[in-house]
This record gives sequence, structure tokens and C-alpha cells, in this order.
Amino acid sequence: MIDYHVHTSLCNHATGTMEQYVRAAVVRGIATICFLDHLTFQEAGRNNAMFPREVPMYVNEARRLERYYREQISVRVGLEIDFSPRHVDRCIEIVNTFDLDVVGSSVHFLEGEDVVTRHSAWARGEISPDEVYPKYIGVLESMLDYDYFDVICHLDLPKKYNQRPSLTAIKGFLGVLEKIREKDLTVELNTSGFHYPVKEAFPSPELLGRCVQLQIPVVVGSDAHTPETVGRDFDRARDLLIEAGYRHLTGFSHRQREAVPLQ
Ligand SMILES: [Zn+2]
Ligand SMILES: [Zn+2]
Repeated sequence: MIDYHVHTSLCNHATGTMEQYVRAAVVRGIATICFLDHLTFQEAGRNNAMFPREVPMYVNEARRLERYYREQISVRVGLEIDFSPRHVDRCIEIVNTFDLDVVGSSVHFLEGEDVVTRHSAWARGEISPDEVYPKYIGVLESMLDYDYFDVICHLDLPKKYNQRPSLTAIKGFLGVLEKIREKDLTVELNTSGFHYPVKEAFPSPELLGRCVQLQIPVVVGSDAHTPETVGRDFDRARDLLIEAGYRHLTGFSHRQREAVPLQ
């Protein structure tokens, strides 16, 4: 199995050195681990992501680990970049400057507010889903006007605290998937959702089923914020993918997609 979404202590809300994540993955028999730590230009997220000046050290350390552990595991490196319409130029500059294997894009902020922390008004149930989902889907749609990333991370993230999308919102997500297909991008199956109140991976089985129909490639990530959670619930992910109709996964090397057996 592969794990294409792990964090590190660099983002200030995860624990463990990069090497500890690699060792944990080796112990679990994971074939490829890819760092996808947070980078954000959102003001409100500054303390929850690495600084842009830390990116060179992060990439160098991943490449050192790649060489050191190459007999045991493939180590890859990418970034999970928050979509921030005002900072797209800086994102593109970073993506073009470093030798990354993959670039993930995610939406954690709506109008500058982090909607996915447990301290948010959304998490406390103080904002209506009819307000949050259309905004979130609107941001995803504008994100898809850009081309600097490869993977859409945790597509239906706002359901995290168990405020599920309405039928209208699901239709919105289906429209987003059409656009993802047109742009030939990859969707992430993120198993962290099993451990939030929603108790379901991102995206939902329904959206994953549509991904198969549209032949959208899928990559798997645990979104581990501790070495202990690398590869967590991948047996469930495998079952979901097989049930949805997937027969192989997608990995990335130097921004090129590569097929990975689903085993
Ligand atoms: Zn995080
Ligand atoms: Zn994320």
C-alpha cells in the first residue's frame, strides 16, 4: 500500500520527525510514503503550516531519507497547499522552484476563517450547512481554474463534524468532479475521516463511485499527524476502493503519475 499524505512536526500541529514517519511506514510494510505537509499563505493558518523558508530544508531531508531508506521503502515529497486566491503567484513560484513529487491542493479556509478546526463556529454547529457548503464548493471551483497542483485533498472536508452535505451540495460536488475529470487531476481517498465525528473517509462512497465512472485516478492518504497513524485504516480504504470498482491506485514521481497496484 502507499500513503501519500503524512505531515511532520514542521507544521506545528503534528508530532514526529520526518524520519520517524518513514520508520513507522517501514514497520507497517508500506511501499511508498509521501510527505505532504502544510504550506499556507492564509493569515489565519500561519501557525499551522511550515514557513516558505523551511521548504528547502524539508525537501532536502525527504531526499536524504529517500536515499537512506531506498532498500526498504520509497520516500516521496510534496506539499499540501491551501488554496488562497490572493497568493496563487507565490504558490506557483514555490511549486516551480522545488523538485516535488506531487502537489496537493486543499481548502481549509472560507473567507479567511479556518472552517475545519474544532474551535470553529462551523465545528460547534453555529453555521448552517446551507451557508458553508455552497461557499466551500465555490472555492473548490475557483481553485480548479488553476493548474499548479496534481491532487485534490479531502474533497468533501466540511462534513468532518458530521454536518453532511444536502442533495444540492452533493450535486455541487458532482459538478466539481466533472471539472476534475476535464483537467485530468487526481482525487485523494483520505482515511482520516474515519476518526472524526463523520466516521467516513473523504470523499464519501457516493462521490468515490462517481470518480470511478469518470475514470478519475485516486491516491490514498492517511493524513497522519503522528507517526503512529501512518497507513491508518488502509484495509478499509482498500475495501472501499475495490467496492467502488478501482483496480489500481495512482502514485507520483517528479509530478508524473504512475500506476500502483491496489493490494
Ligand atoms: Zn494538519
Ligand atoms: Zn488538509
